[in-house]
Amino acid sequence: MSKLKIDPNLVLREEQLVLSEHQIRSIQDLLKYQHPITQKYLALGGSGGWLGPNTTPITKCPDGVGSFQHYANGSIYYHPSTGAHEVHGLIRARWQSLGWERSFLGYPITDETATPDGIGRYNHFQGGSIYWSPSTGAWEVHGAIRAKYSSLGWERSFLGYPLTNEMTCPDGIGRYNHFQGGSIYWSPSTGAWEVHGLIREQWKALGWERSVLGYPTSDELAVFGGTGRISHFQRGSIYWSSTAGTRVLRERVRIHVKILENPTSFTLNQQFAAMQEVFAVAGIRVDWVTTENLSLPTLTDVDVGGCFMGQTTAEQNSLFGNRNFMGGNDLVVYYVRSTVPGYNGCAAHPAGRPGCVVVRSASRWTLAHEFGHVLGLSHVSNNDRLMTGLGTFNITNPPPDLISSESTTMRNSTLSTQL
Ligand SMILES: [Zn+2]
Repeated sequence: MSKLKIDPNLVLREEQLVLSEHQIRSIQDLLKYQHPITQKYLALGGSGGWLGPNTTPITKCPDGVGSFQHYANGSIYYHPSTGAHEVHGLIRARWQSLGWERSFLGYPITDETATPDGIGRYNHFQGGSIYWSPSTGAWEVHGAIRAKYSSLGWERSFLGYPLTNEMTCPDGIGRYNHFQGGSIYWSPSTGAWEVHGLIREQWKALGWERSVLGYPTSDELAVFGGTGRISHFQRGSIYWSSTAGTRVLRERVRIHVKILENPTSFTLNQQFAAMQEVFAVAGIRVDWVTTENLSLPTLTDVDVGGCFMGQTTAEQNSLFGNRNFMGGNDLVVYYVRSTVPGYNGCAAHPAGRPGCVVVRSASRWTLAHEFGHVLGLSHVSNNDRLMTGLGTFNITNPPPDLISSESTTMRNSTLSTQL
């Protein structure tokens, strides 16, 4: 092959710099045979681009398949199954600290990319991602925790950017990442769930996964469509609302709803949200388990006699015989048009069939009040308390109060069971 000699004093006229289409195609053909790393390097500006001059030749990775080239300001890694991608800066430093392509992250599958929030940067890799922002630095997320982070909306979610790599929990079993706005915890038996805000603070104060609550088993959820929030854990739940504060729930009641007449004053969600708000003070979670419509025309205005605990009428006995789906300590509420005589509700029930009747026009607090009776509470003469005997429509300072002895009675009831 002869070498082309160029006179160093040669001056080209402008029209001589114009390449013919044939020459351009020839150059494009040549580029096709360049190493994918070189193609990527040239696409990013080559030695005149931000990567700067190379500091190594193109080098095979230890796996014998991929290859890399380092430059003054970053690296390009290539593998046949991922293509060639650049990594640089603190994301590259994090990847390096984990062991480059030999780590669980594997090869990059993107260049460093701006996050949709316009603040941070990330690279995705075969086995996870590294996220960087100016205030948080660069940290990896992967596996089920990354999948949860992704499902919530990455850095644009309330979680923001990661503050840690994935870490092993002190119990040696689970894994977690902390983020700016919360954490994601994973364990083999529970999966990956987020926990944040004041609920996270409470869980942290109890001792995280080593606390009596164990690992989270849900994200933070709205409670019955209301303003209360709840996270479930292996052995309990943490409830928060602006009025109840943060409450650890270690017991629960399981409630089945049977509807003869739909509620008219407050929706079932409103009544259950109100009930959970009060029962949280006693540390009791309210589980609304099933809902069934019943066509029982002769019982829609149900005779409750004097509504004394332990005394039931034939109509109450008949109504409380409807127990589809109900197990051992489960409770039931029957929504009716009215009671005879007329009350908001009545908690008298046949032995072994715990539950209550609530009328369709009942107050927001009737459901909670009647189940207070079912769990052993009696009336008081105080309209600031749930168990007021003066009518729950007259409650003066919602949410109504439970006093501590009432909470104890409710927890000690065999009808509230430990989580
Ligand atoms: Zn009552």
